[in-house]
Amino acid sequence: MSLTLTDVRLVYPDGDRELVALDEVSLHVPDGTLTAVVGPSGSGKSSLLAVAATLVRPRAGRILVGDTDAGALSDAARTRLRLNRVGIVFQQPNLLPSLTAVEQLQVTDRMRGGASRPDHAERLLATVGLKDRLRSRPHQLSGGERQRVNIARALMGAPEVLLVDEPTSALDEHRGAQIVDLLADLTRHHGLATVLVTHDSRHLDRADRVATMHDGRLTPP
Ligand code: ADP
Ligand code: MG
Repeated sequence: MSLTLTDVRLVYPDGDRELVALDEVSLHVPDGTLTAVVGPSGSGKSSLLAVAATLVRPRAGRILVGDTDAGALSDAARTRLRLNRVGIVFQQPNLLPSLTAVEQLQVTDRMRGGASRPDHAERLLATVGLKDRLRSRPHQLSGGERQRVNIARALMGAPEVLLVDEPTSALDEHRGAQIVDLLADLTRHHGLATVLVTHDSRHLDRADRVATMHDGRLTPP
């Protein structure tokens, strides 16, 4: 299923004024494709993901996940949409220090109210290259490996949309390239509509499209 944003406007209060974080932003991401969004710090990239993730309601505009209009849903229905159809990889992995890689993924099942599926978690971790790291805790993993756990966790609910915020910022060039390769492969294999936000203009050759954000405006590919 695709992701479509149409004429999205997002405004934050800023003292007695307003800050326009997203200004008439439109973006269509077909399933099985990866769109990279590049742009300087403060240009609105994370805001774009927050709106696409249905975490924040825009002042105007429309978010479609497949055929579902997120703006028309109640808060409870939006939460269900997010848990079941959207995978989010935040900039900070936010892994729980005491849990193994498999357990990090199982927590997501419990949040969804389902039974935890250790075999499913193990398969996903193997898919992201962590077959030998299933019982490792975050402090035993490298930055790149923690980011892979983070990505696998986002896929636990078999989402249609994958939103990834600056996954390579803490990684060296080689490991950064590997993470982008992984995201591109997962996008094709699972038919995801993926948005990869980055201020890092390296590794963009793996993206199907590259859009540029500047001062809240998105220049489409
Ligand atoms: P980027 O991810 O490209 O660095 P952000 O989306 O985080 O950009 O921020 C876009 C603009 O919105 C910036 O000017 C930032 O300071 C502002 N901003 C982001 N989040 C908030 C917030 N929760 N409240 C007020 N202003 C915010
Ligand atoms: Mg950001």
